Amino acid sequence: MLNIVIFGPPGAGKGTQSTKIIEKYNLYHISTGDLFRSHIKNDTPLGKRVKSYTENGLLVPDEVTIAMLKEVLEDNKAQVNGFIFDGFPRTVTQAEVLDKFMAENGTAIHAVVALDVSEDELKARIEKRKAIENRADDDQVKLQKRINEYFNKTIHVLPYYHSKGRLIKIDGVGEVDTIFGAITTAIDNASIGK
Ligand code: ADP
Repeated sequence: MLNIVIFGPPGAGKGTQSTKIIEKYNLYHISTGDLFRSHIKNDTPLGKRVKSYTENGLLVPDEVTIAMLKEVLEDNKAQVNGFIFDGFPRTVTQAEVLDKFMAENGTAIHAVVALDVSEDELKARIEKRKAIENRADDDQVKLQKRINEYFNKTIHVLPYYHSKGRLIKIDGVGEVDTIFGAITTAIDNASIGK
């Protein structure tokens, strides 16, 4: 198995790069943001529970997010080549649970690709995306909250993976294909012998 985390603040390009990584390495895409949006759209019990968090730019409580994620992992682990996690883990607790799950299944997170983008560039990108995607959480106030959640809670995931030697920082500003090239080189190096 090859398991990758794609990491970065809102608007860093996680979704764009995930699509390309999946194609190249034939991985199963798990975006917790997409999963939550789908539950909300279908008005499921989970969707009802998380709506006020996601729509206000706040992190969903760990126990809810982790339970949802584990179910998806259990349902798919036997059939896939590996996973790419997009938007997960967002807290150190989530990262620890993910490592434990991988270890229990005889595998690991092989690389954490962190896209580095300045806060000004993030805001400019999301401003553009708003017009296209019409997400409920892309307005100014909610966006600022999401960015704050990232810099208050999620950023601590970086030293966690750094201490385990799995963190790869990539400059997230530039041409999509140039960034993708840097990512694939990093993944190929990280997964040698895995
Ligand atoms: P972003 O563009 O902010 O990276 P996502 O599509 O990944 O957005 O997530 C949208 C929202 O879903 C987040 O603001 C948060 O409320 C919720 N969410 C997604 N993933 C997680 C997670 N791993 N832990 C807690 N909340 C999450």
